[in-house]
Amino acid sequence: MIIRGNISLKKYNSFGLDYKTRYLVQTKTEKEAAALFNGTIHLKGPILIMGGGSNLLFTGDYIGAIIVPGFKGIKTEEVSDEFAIISAGAGILWDNLVEWSVSKGYGGLENLSLIPGLVGAAPVQNIGAYGVETKETIVKVKTISTHDGSIRFFTNDECGFGYRSSIFKNSEKGNFLVTRVYFRLKVNPIPDLAYGTLKDEIVKLGEPSLKLIRQAVINIRRSKLPDPAVIGNAGSFFKNPVVESAVADNLKKRFPGLPCYNNRPGSIKLAAGWMIDQCGWKGKRIGDAGVHEKQALVLVNYGKATGKEIFDISEKIKLSVFEKFGIPLEREVEII
Ligand SMILES: Cc1cc2nc3c(=O)[nH]c(=O)nc-3n(C[C@H](O)[C@H](O)[C@H](O)COP(=O)(O)OP(=O)(O)OC[C@H]3O[C@@H](n4cnc5c(N)ncnc54)[C@H](O)[C@@H]3O)c2cc1C
Repeated sequence: MIIRGNISLKKYNSFGLDYKTRYLVQTKTEKEAAALFNGTIHLKGPILIMGGGSNLLFTGDYIGAIIVPGFKGIKTEEVSDEFAIISAGAGILWDNLVEWSVSKGYGGLENLSLIPGLVGAAPVQNIGAYGVETKETIVKVKTISTHDGSIRFFTNDECGFGYRSSIFKNSEKGNFLVTRVYFRLKVNPIPDLAYGTLKDEIVKLGEPSLKLIRQAVINIRRSKLPDPAVIGNAGSFFKNPVVESAVADNLKKRFPGLPCYNNRPGSIKLAAGWMIDQCGWKGKRIGDAGVHEKQALVLVNYGKATGKEIFDISEKIKLSVFEKFGIPLEREVEII
């Protein structure tokens, strides 16, 4: 375990914000992590578990310990005619896991190619893209209690998955550190071309296969989303709001161009990016904080913005969208 004091977070968060943390703790084994929670090692102040820092907005120095799990290893646990159960350490780069699964011919994660961050955050966030969410393939999640260092497994049902959420973000927030995630992937996957824009890109590339789907997703993402290594950002800053069908029908009458997506019966998901764009925010910049020119859902740091400046823009956007559409936007990015 490496414990360092008074460390800059600049290279540990995808907004590239230069705040400090009192301690940065990098753990390589579950035993090391348990020692932080069972009373063996005492660190002053609160604790934040962090993966790649790609869904966080720091607004000041962190006065406690930031713990980054470094657990490695991808394993095939068992294979049947239909499924492969695989597991991956929380410290593995998410996209490395996707690449590995595609190279093995295991289907289920390919639509989630190139999402930044580490495996440990995937069940916390229930990450999703191009019509797929991780909750569809997660079998169980291994964790360590941050209260006493004990091990606990959560089944898929126990994770309480929702749209970009899970119990690890809600009722159990901060109570568990994810150490390993188990997935059930298809051994003979049939390419799913249901998602419109993805289908068009795949058809351009050739005969659909896992590798080609992954390539198509990578191509689309690279053309649409800013690379955090170049312009600081945390992907979609807001969630797409889910409303009752009647609310969506009313909005559609007033704003015929509003993109609406089917959700669970009786509810509709609205495109937050479109609404933000309609309020004139796309490409706007206040100092070094701004809204990306190609994607209104993505807030960016052009260089020297502070977390507070990015937060302030997000507040202004929420207000504009509420005034125009009557819809409260919810942040996907966590404010620290
Ligand atoms: C350019 C870009 C594109 C993106 N596109 C997408 C997308 O298409 N779909 C999508 O869903 N997301 C997307 N994101 C958001 C982000 O990549 C995901 O939310 C990702 O899962 C965050 O992973 P992380 O390791 O960086 O987590 P962090 O940002 O470090 O943490 C996120 C949350 O998870 C908790 N956490 C992290 N690791 C653990 C652990 N081991 N145990 C317990 N809690 C933990 C943290 O405490 C925090 O609450 C994008 C981000 C960027 C920058």
